This record gives sequence, structure tokens and C-alpha cells, in this order.
Amino acid sequence: MATRSCRGSCGTRSCSGGCFMLIASILVLSVLSPARTQDFGYDGAKGPSHWGEQYNSCTGKHQSPININSLDVKKVNLPPLVFQGFDVAPKETNLTNNGHTVFVTMDSEVTPTVSGGPLNGVYEYSQLHFHWGDNDTFGSEDMIDNHRFPMELHIVFFKQDYQNARTALNYPDGLTVLAFFFEIAPDDNPMYGEFIELLGNVTESHLSARFDVPPSLKELIADDLLHYYTYDGSLTTPPCSEVVTWIDFKEPILLSHAQVQAFRALKDEDGHPLTHNFRPVQPLGDRVVLFNTDEMIKQVDLDADVPPEVGEGVDTNKLDTPAKSDAGSLPAKDPSSRKHPRNGATVPVASRWSLLTAAMVLLVPLMFYSTIAKC
Ligand SMILES: [Zn+2]
Repeated sequence: MATRSCRGSCGTRSCSGGCFMLIASILVLSVLSPARTQDFGYDGAKGPSHWGEQYNSCTGKHQSPININSLDVKKVNLPPLVFQGFDVAPKETNLTNNGHTVFVTMDSEVTPTVSGGPLNGVYEYSQLHFHWGDNDTFGSEDMIDNHRFPMELHIVFFKQDYQNARTALNYPDGLTVLAFFFEIAPDDNPMYGEFIELLGNVTESHLSARFDVPPSLKELIADDLLHYYTYDGSLTTPPCSEVVTWIDFKEPILLSHAQVQAFRALKDEDGHPLTHNFRPVQPLGDRVVLFNTDEMIKQVDLDADVPPEVGEGVDTNKLDTPAKSDAGSLPAKDPSSRKHPRNGATVPVASRWSLLTAAMVLLVPLMFYSTIAKC
């Protein structure tokens, strides 16, 4: 598999030093799309409804993707997400068609990492890839209020403690995926210029191409990294391991129709057009989706004697900004249960005091009635 890909890469672009990188890339990808990748597809007998027949995890209770109901999320002020190396252009970046998607691997002096937010620990870049549909009305995996976007970017990171993506699959907090939705804009997005151009060189499955000017991760994502949904879920392809902390950013990336259309020209392993590669949404079950916001949300201790003060929400940061000292003030993530801040008691101040007021309204008449009855 690696040999074929490497040959493909050399055949399409210059290959100085690229083959080693590509072999490493394929090895990494094989973790997330295991040896039996040919056993799954998106239609018919290989389609998502049959994945569970070979991969038990695909029938689990905490699967991805999901539909996120924005009216049924818990608003929170999580510690700032910390992005390192996102603004560094890699030495080498490769684009590969693996028959299911196109994925990007990079060789950089500064490996991008992400930490903070809902994460406990530092997560290291593995690869990024895309999901899309037959036309511009659908294609994303997660949905927001039953709305599908035309495409979705997944940037996959593994927890550094676990050394690599393969080992990380064995731990419930092994991976995090930064997800970005796409929307259609009238004009081409210049940041995706060479990317779209290279798609024409990897139309056939197992071909690779190398960027002349490798883009930094920052150039490929949205600007607003503060507003996001987060929940515990799974890989959206077999083996569907439930090891992913999903972070779905609210602000979409803009591409033109022609740029998204270029993805639909790719072919799968059988040489058929790869016009769609998204999994249907799965039941939310007992999970709670958090929405990180910059609105002031105060964590209140109901047993405290002193009423809470307003205006102590946690500030959030942007790229390459270190976490603040109060970043550890939220409950630490428990890797065994994965029940951390998203299931904690973070409720807007107004809601708490409304409850207190309501309780008083009920209790005072009762006490009065009780006194009267004794008399
Ligand atoms: Zn994906």
C-alpha cells in the first residue's frame, strides 16, 4: 500500500525526500483507517448500516457524527484552547487520496499541538481530511440544528502521552478532532488555491502529491476559535472507536462552489466517483454537548453563603497564546469516566437565582400556612 502510494507521489510531483514522509503518512493513516479499509464504503453492502457487522464499536452508544441542537447545549466558559505551531509553514506537506477521502500529512520543524479547552493534556497533529456530499446541500458529518453543510474538515490529533495515534486508539481520551464546517461563497478562497489545484493530481485512489508552498494550519481554518461545540464521540469511519473529543467550531470556512466541486471529482478504490463520504448522524444518547462562549457564565456553589459576583467569566485566547493561570480551575478530566466539565454544574447565574427565587415564592406561603394551622 505504501509502495503504491509512494510511486504515485513520485509520478505526479518531484519526490526529493517525499517517499519517506509518505510511507510514514500511510502508516499513520492505517491506524485511523485500519488494514481492512477496503471493507467499508458509503453505499450498499459496504455502507454505514453494515459497518457494525465487522466492527463492533460502530454500534456503540457514543458514536459520531451527531446532530447538535443549539437550543439543547450547555453553555460554558472553558479554559482557553491553546494552539501551538499552527502558524508555522511545514517543510513538506503531502496530499493523498486513500479511496475514502483526501488527507494531508506534514513534516514540520514545529509539530502543531492543541491543548486547553475541554482537553486534559497536549494533543499532537496526526493528519487532516475532508467529508463532502454529492451537491452543496449536504456533505458534513455533524449537523447543527438538522442543517448539513456542504463539506467538513477534520484535523486529527492524538494525545502525546500515548506516543502515536495507534496506541491512542486504546484510550477513551486518545484523540481529539478539530472540526470545521464549510459554506459556499461567491469567490474562490485563495488559501485553498494550491490545495484545489493538487486535487487534480490525486484523482485516482492511492495517488499523492506534494505542495510547492505548504500552507500552515492557520491558513486552512476559520478565524474564530473561541466559539465551539464539544462532545465525546467516535471515529466516523471503522473501527468507530469511541476515543474522540470532538471540537466543532461555529464559524465556517468559505469555499466557492467550484472549489468544493473539485473534491467530487476524486475516485474511490474501485475507480468510481467519490461523490459522498459522510456517515449518517448517530443517537446522542446520554451525552451532553457543551458550547463554549465568551458570554459571562459564573460557576456557582449553591452551598456558599456569599452571593456570586457577576463578571468573572473566563477569557479565551487565540492562536499560540499560553493558557492563563486560572485554566485549571475547572474540574480535571477523569480519563476513566470522561465525565468532566461538560457534565459539571456550570449554569448561568441568572438561572440559579431564578431557581432560588422560585423556591422562596413556594416556601414562604407554606411556612405561613403552617404557622396559621398551628394557631
Ligand atoms: Zn473525518
